[in-house]
Amino acid sequence: MTIPLLDLKAQYETIRTEVEPAIQKVLESQHFIMGASVTEFEREVATYCESGFAFGCASGSDALLLALMAIDIKPGDYVILPPFTFFATAGAVHRLGAIPVFIDIDPVSFNLDPEKVKEFLRGEGRVYNRIKPDLNKVKAIIPVHLYGQVAEMNPIMEIAREFGLYVIEDAAQSIGSRYQGVQAGNIGDIGCFSFFPSKNLGAYGDAGLVTTNNEELAQKLDILRLHGARPKYYHKYVGVNSRLDAIQAAVLSVKLKYLDQWSQARRDKALVYNALFNDHGLTQDSKSICDNDCSSFGEECKMSSDKVVIPVESSGEPKNGGKHIYHQYTIRVKERNEVLEALKKEGIGSAIYYPVSLHMQECFSSLGYKAEDCPISYCASQQALSLPVYPEITEDQQEKVVKTIAKALH
Ligand SMILES: *Cc1c(COP(=O)(O)O)cnc(C)c1O
Repeated sequence: MTIPLLDLKAQYETIRTEVEPAIQKVLESQHFIMGASVTEFEREVATYCESGFAFGCASGSDALLLALMAIDIKPGDYVILPPFTFFATAGAVHRLGAIPVFIDIDPVSFNLDPEKVKEFLRGEGRVYNRIKPDLNKVKAIIPVHLYGQVAEMNPIMEIAREFGLYVIEDAAQSIGSRYQGVQAGNIGDIGCFSFFPSKNLGAYGDAGLVTTNNEELAQKLDILRLHGARPKYYHKYVGVNSRLDAIQAAVLSVKLKYLDQWSQARRDKALVYNALFNDHGLTQDSKSICDNDCSSFGEECKMSSDKVVIPVESSGEPKNGGKHIYHQYTIRVKERNEVLEALKKEGIGSAIYYPVSLHMQECFSSLGYKAEDCPISYCASQQALSLPVYPEITEDQQEKVVKTIAKALH
């Protein structure tokens, strides 16, 4: 029994009779750029996201770029983001000539730590003292809703208001997740989504989306993806070519109908993992390993070598308005290499999201960060391990995953 990290073929089998005619319809129309399937999907996804406006674009990376362009991020501006994320979050900032500011994460949720953002904006703390920026040039915060769970948006929005900053939500992993009842992407100024095939709502190629409730930003986002022109050939802005492909839109319209059902199934599977890890006596409370300063940094980590830390729904359960959609089911494990090897030997897929914290990436070395400037993120990059989670995984398969990890740790 091999267990892939994600089984997209199993999902395809369940929707093939719907998705193939939908693609066929676009082929018959020979209308591949913008057009009816795009407009239709944008309307559906705006409703789903409970957002005033939704504009398709070519990828999640472009969604971030378009969002930063819409709020006029300029060379020399600073944009705050967590270093424990996919590269695109920082790449978009850098591409506009702006400077990413890496602020550490919370050890339990893996999301941006608002307290550390505040500390930085007051001109205090390790990161401020490392880079000594002109704080007037800090323009925006990009919280990332990692693994399917919304970041601590209330304090982040409060800070943004206090310091006059825009908030761009990187919701690439979190479509349909909620925070205090509000959909991911719908709390800040602009929400950015990715439909990369392995995301919870995945296209059959690259695709992305921006959402907003701000009419002015909407008007700008709408045309920035069309080289900034409306009507055609009359350019109000210097935009980019980043449209949602018509075939992808047709695929996404079919899949969107099933998204809540799939996300619920992922939640169910995550709870099965939690129970299995607890039953095997493998769990350690996440609060016990990291104080918020990671004072153990550079010393022996407090995490036990024969235990794992399972995900915590820090945004609360659905009955309290929170909703984790488990884009990834990510544990922490100290002896990660041994566990990785054991899983591989049994034919079980797993992945490290992410092995290098962005403040330690070679391409950002000129920014001058040291590992200890974002110790929690650095530690997470050494310990995080994502396990197979998708609607079609069976309880037997999950049992095998947990048993394999138990054996590796004992
Ligand atoms: C996937 C992802 C992106 C980028 O999306 P693409 O569609 O692959 O360009 C950005 N941010 C995060 C957190 C992601 O997971």
